[in-house]
Amino acid sequence: MRILIVEDETSIANFLRDGLEEEGFAVDVADNGKKGLQLALDNIEEYDVILLDWMLPGLNGIEICRNIRLENKAVPIIFLTAKDTVDDAVFGLETGANDYIRKPFSFEELLARIRVLMRKNITELVVFSAAGIEMNIEKHTVTKKGKAVELTQKEFSLLEYFLRNKGKVCRRTRIIEKVWDIHFDYDNSVIDVYINALRKKLDEPCQPSFISTVRGVGYKIESDE
Ligand code: CA
Repeated sequence: MRILIVEDETSIANFLRDGLEEEGFAVDVADNGKKGLQLALDNIEEYDVILLDWMLPGLNGIEICRNIRLENKAVPIIFLTAKDTVDDAVFGLETGANDYIRKPFSFEELLARIRVLMRKNITELVVFSAAGIEMNIEKHTVTKKGKAVELTQKEFSLLEYFLRNKGKVCRRTRIIEKVWDIHFDYDNSVIDVYINALRKKLDEPCQPSFISTVRGVGYKIESDE
């Protein structure tokens, strides 16, 4: 899952990026309005949530939000705002934002709101399963036949992407776009490393892997149904 943060205060941007990366998100950060809008429009299908500061150099958050909404009606947008009058909040929502949070805010509260919006946007599901593997997004747990399995953040994100798309072929380029951030240098072998790690942790011994390779295209997890 990939998030864009548009925030000119470096300390807040870094705090958010670190926290969200720890939660398994791929995170892109823009420190001014123009760059933020550019990133948003360049990757409009890739972002699962956009966090927008209100007061920004270049373009302000409201202008960015309006422009994003012309291209994409669905992507959840949360305003980060120091303005705290009710009118401002209403205005924020009327521009097409889904939610707003007042600074200073707790990371836990922001994360909870992100999860709520992602559920509305993508699916009501928080539990995904296939091939005896069960993933609970909210509890951040993975089990195989009822036994807990430890995954790194990137392994977790990759497995989440596969499970959300089970039964479909996942193209390598799409996997990179959804699981890694913009600084990923398109070294394809990195994906192989993570796929191998998942296979090692989750495959049945002496059985075909639960992640099948679709030669020249990508990977697939079969749907149980
Ligand atoms: Ca600001």
